[in-house]
Amino acid sequence: MSPDSSVDFLIVGAGFSGLVAAERLSNAGFRCVVVDQREHLGGNAHDRIDAAGVRVHDYGPHYFRTNSPRIVEYLSKFTGWLDADYKIKSFTDDRYWSFPVNLNTFEELVGHPATTADFETWLSAHRIPAEHPRNSEELMLSIVGPELYRKFYEGYTLKQWRRHPRELDPSVCGRVPVRTNRDDRYLAEEFQALPKEGFTAMFQRMLDASPGVELHLGVDFEEARRRWHHRHLIFTGPVDQYFGRRFGALPYRSLRFEHESFTREQLAARAAVSGKPGFWQPAVQVNYPAADVPHTRILEFKHITGPLPEGSTIIREFPKDWTPDDEPFYPVPAADAKAAYRRYAELAAAEENTSFIGRLATYRYYNMDQVTGMALAEAERLISRYSTHA
Ligand code: FAD
Ligand code: UDP
Repeated sequence: MSPDSSVDFLIVGAGFSGLVAAERLSNAGFRCVVVDQREHLGGNAHDRIDAAGVRVHDYGPHYFRTNSPRIVEYLSKFTGWLDADYKIKSFTDDRYWSFPVNLNTFEELVGHPATTADFETWLSAHRIPAEHPRNSEELMLSIVGPELYRKFYEGYTLKQWRRHPRELDPSVCGRVPVRTNRDDRYLAEEFQALPKEGFTAMFQRMLDASPGVELHLGVDFEEARRRWHHRHLIFTGPVDQYFGRRFGALPYRSLRFEHESFTREQLAARAAVSGKPGFWQPAVQVNYPAADVPHTRILEFKHITGPLPEGSTIIREFPKDWTPDDEPFYPVPAADAKAAYRRYAELAAAEENTSFIGRLATYRYYNMDQVTGMALAEAERLISRYSTHA
């Protein structure tokens, strides 16, 4: 096959990493082609309105959050924001609990009103101190002690990763805040919001503001590299796949999602459970840490994505062993996986005229704001490199 044309940048992946890079590079005058093997924009942050009228996130809940004003300022060129109250619950021992662990959770545990000082005294008596926690179990035991660790973290983590928390970096369970006041927000970052009309609309505006960028959906890397001669490649897919898995596949964790929609009448019958007429459950997310429940969480996006349709949709999330036919949703944050990645990272560093950015190409458990920052930095580096070597 002869190439379709010649471009400056061939960008593989139309998620945050690829589209941010394309926007920056095209506005600096470079010709870019973006391809994605999927049939839609946005990578794992893709969202859409489903048949019940609810804006759903098809690849798991995507809560935008950041401590970086620079990232907010950049993305605000393409979207307004909807204040998001990311409040969730945990369901275990036949009841809903306030989660992440906070003073309300402690009161639910002891069964009577308490103060921050009471909770701190209790924690001091139960914590198992670790000066430098080596894994997620040591970290959580040192923060909340065995009872809360077993109730909320151990079973959930085993299900999610099929690894014990002691085989995972402290940063895994460390993602979830623990507080001794009544702040029960799931996330700790200063800015917590969702794009007003959703992530997909934000990405479409980003593309509209990217002069001359060509987008080709349903096209994979092997086809793309034959179709477009390029000066430089930006690859945002799995780094081991790029190198033909020559050192073996890196470990990933995958997920399976089950969607279920409800009419207004069906929701009315659930009002006593959800405590909120028109909703199926009491919060956007309910976590299920118990080992005998196969899913880890149930999402009901209607709580946060507005506008409010009459019906609702829930999505049950089931962790899944990864095979090459599954989506590689999570790199595994553990020492053995990082060691395996290092061999690919060395190959990536030596690859000429090729950048590896994003969660899969750098094999890091990165959030959306972090990959945005990475794409902005790489685009700046490439603009300076290719502008001076025109
Ligand atoms: P991706 O979004 O994965 O995009 C990569 C794209 O490359 C994909 O569309 C893929 O189809 C395409 N691709 C891969 N290989 C090829 C190939 N060979 N040929 C063509 N195309 C290819 N972050 C948050 O900030 N907040 C959250 O609440 C949050 N929740 C999450 C929940 C889940 C279940 C998951 C899995 C992730 C979550 N994230 C969250 C992380 C967020 O999804 C990522 O940080 C972000 O989407 C990464 O963007 P990316 O462009 O690097 O990768
Ligand atoms: N976690 C847990 N219990 C919970 C929620 C989270 O043990 O109720 C642990 C689990 O190991 C999980 C990690 O904390 O993988 C990070 O949780 P988060 O909700 O941030 O995961 P993500 O949204 O990235 O899947």
